[in-house]
Amino acid sequence: MVAGLSRLFVAVQLTTEARHALADRVLAAAPGGLPGRPVPPPNWHLTLRFLGDVEAVGQDRVLAALDQADLGAPFTVTWGAPGAFPRPRRAAVLWVGADRGADHLESLAAATEEAAVSAGFPDEDRPFRPHLTLSRIRPEEDVTSLLAAMPPLGVVMPVDRIVLYRSHLGRGGASYQEIEEFPLG
Ligand code: ATP
Ligand code: MG
Repeated sequence: MVAGLSRLFVAVQLTTEARHALADRVLAAAPGGLPGRPVPPPNWHLTLRFLGDVEAVGQDRVLAALDQADLGAPFTVTWGAPGAFPRPRRAAVLWVGADRGADHLESLAAATEEAAVSAGFPDEDRPFRPHLTLSRIRPEEDVTSLLAAMPPLGVVMPVDRIVLYRSHLGRGGASYQEIEEFPLG
């Protein structure tokens, strides 16, 4: 970490119920554990916009922009089928996608992006792919059979706010600190 800078991102937090239900179902689908470096369930989240290392003034600007943003009405997400980036045969990231609610997550990411740009951040040029990261795999592995054995998780979750987080990178993995939440609707 560079002194004076905060590593920020905006995300959808899981509800406690959804976190537990997802953890149960992932464990049931992969009783031997996930390949790679699993993200501990308390850290599971869905990133809408990664902001990177930000000075205090940038943080203030993004807080103000998110306060002003039209984030739309609350909605429901159904966590569905697992998948892998860049592809199952050479997976670097194992994730869970959203079945129902993916379109709403895209709108929410677009509103977040608009707020970030109005706060002076550069455009995100990568397309938004809503996903919840379960594990990071280095070197890449073939997870085709694991994915085939993992049914859609079918966990339903309300989304009624987004959260600005500060990430602290450490040897034992990242930890996330909630800075502020912004209600939908
Ligand atoms: P670690 O980096 O130790 O594996 P992490 O990726 O969870 O942990 P961060 O790197 O601080 O922690 O990332 C915070 C969130 O932002 C994560 O959801 C991560 O996937 C996402 N993220 C990080 N870098 C980028 C990036 N360049 N573009 C888009 N999202 C990113
Ligand atoms: Mg990272």
